[in-house]
Amino acid sequence: MTKEEKANIRAKEWYQVNKERKKAYDIAYNAANRAKKNAQSRNWVKNNPEKRTYIIKKSYINTKPQKMQYAKEYGARLEVKKRVAERATARSKVPENKHKALVSRLWSRFRIVLEQRNEALLFQSNLCGICNKPETAIHNLTGKVKLLCIDHNHDTLENRGLLCMHCNSMIGFIERSFELFDVLPTKIKNYLFAETEFHRAIRSILKRQD
Ligand SMILES: [Zn+2]
Repeated sequence: MTKEEKANIRAKEWYQVNKERKKAYDIAYNAANRAKKNAQSRNWVKNNPEKRTYIIKKSYINTKPQKMQYAKEYGARLEVKKRVAERATARSKVPENKHKALVSRLWSRFRIVLEQRNEALLFQSNLCGICNKPETAIHNLTGKVKLLCIDHNHDTLENRGLLCMHCNSMIGFIERSFELFDVLPTKIKNYLFAETEFHRAIRSILKRQD
């Protein structure tokens, strides 16, 4: 064993016994020499940019799973969720934001600009393209009657026209169950008006108790 190795072992043994003393000494020293230490740190960062980047990256990679887990748990907290929702609602009420949100929604979903939407509303006289009635659905935030929906083909993405909310859900359903398209009117009429054994049975099972 060399002298140096022996000294190292002695230093380690000393440290094991005097951990608290060393800690207190370090704290006092750092407090007394803060300006000097800070200058040293800044100097080191200036002279070792690659090493510094490496340390930051390594620490980022090492702590990433914990950080992600923490973010997930933090975001799931009820009070945080409430706060986020409140902020979003407040933001969405600012007229400028409302306008921006509409413009960006029209573009991201339908690739049209506001003028196209307004022209379409004028062209259809604000009436649904299927039932020919005005929209009656109420917006649950503003309490006002909604504007007609823009209907588009989900496969080709072509914008087909403006529909009321009911007709829009109906056409959405029919598109998903196109095999029912021809038989649907008969099936609905039967369901509503036919008086078969099946109808009597199911209605008696579901009979109201009031
Ligand atoms: Zn309609």
